[in-house]
Amino acid sequence: MTGLLDTFGRRATDLRVSLTDKCNLRCTYCMPAEGLPWLPKDELLTDDEIVRLVRIAVQDLGVNAIRFTGGEPLIRPGLPDLIRRTYELGDDLDLSLTTNGLGLERIAPALKEAGLRRLNVSLDTLDRARFHQLTRRDRLDDVLTGLEAAQSAGLTPVKVNAVLMRGVNDDEAPALLRFALERGYELRFIEQMPIDADHQWTRDNLITADEILDSLRTEFELSPSVAPRGSAPAERWLVDGGPATVGVIASVTQPFCRACNRTRLTADGQIRDCLFATTETDLRALLRDGSDDAEIAGRWRTAMWGKARGHGLDEPVRLEEFAAASRSMSAIGG
Ligand code: SAM
Ligand code: SF4
Repeated sequence: MTGLLDTFGRRATDLRVSLTDKCNLRCTYCMPAEGLPWLPKDELLTDDEIVRLVRIAVQDLGVNAIRFTGGEPLIRPGLPDLIRRTYELGDDLDLSLTTNGLGLERIAPALKEAGLRRLNVSLDTLDRARFHQLTRRDRLDDVLTGLEAAQSAGLTPVKVNAVLMRGVNDDEAPALLRFALERGYELRFIEQMPIDADHQWTRDNLITADEILDSLRTEFELSPSVAPRGSAPAERWLVDGGPATVGVIASVTQPFCRACNRTRLTADGQIRDCLFATTETDLRALLRDGSDDAEIAGRWRTAMWGKARGHGLDEPVRLEEFAAASRSMSAIGG
């Protein structure tokens, strides 16, 4: 079996699958207030098509970790069944999900029972008015109860993803960490990336990993975690001597491209070799024209072979080019 190699010697073993481009929040760093032109239903992959592609990825291409994302993956009908069918492809698969937490209270036990191992819940603020401003919806309580439900269902470790924005929630890093420590959630901050549908991102407004760490150090003692970073994007720090940790994903200021092991499948069946790719490879057409598994696997390998050395966001020129990216995070699958 030849895996998903590229010309820089990397091997993609971690597949991100976007289950929908739609969402029930409108985070300002991701989507415009009015939403986006949603993909027509017939362009979305069906459950059978997703399961087939995941099977090819796992059995023929060496993928060993699957993360479902979106848009908001919990709004996809029949999600537990899709997770169960994925789980049945190999019970040693690392099966996870990234969600905004809305509806998790209801569905968490079914996800666990279907074979989901763990999940990440996005939460950028603990303040109700700010949450409303940031997501354009008054749903903070649903996220908090969703987090509790995930924990109770055993979808652990429950990870919390937070994005800080200047002048909005950039003073909240210590409070978010306190909140996570008290509940046993693993907090990770993600630098805001220039991948918002409104194209509002600017370098001056970026809250950098260094700023996040400085802010955390006003209340906590952070020491480098001994665990190697490997292909995990988060740099982890022990909090007050450990064992609790906090992660910071410096996607912009300290990209982890050299160790990247990801391949992405959009909800309409396109392979992206990088979140920041400007081209895609269409697998949906192959799925629907009778191509066999070997042809699909071959096209996927070719798509990944051409993966660039890095996204170049730490280089100003590339950044300007990228700021007008073809798709927003919700459409690609974050
Ligand atoms: N709707 C789900 C959620 O919010 O968790 C899954 C999809 S969302 C696109 C996945 C992750 O991407 C979230 O943690 C979100 O905060 C993050 N994200 C979205 N836009 C981003 C941006 N411009 N920069 C950094 N992270 C972003
Ligand atoms: Fe929806 Fe997630 Fe984008 Fe927020 S970050 S708008 S929850 S897809």
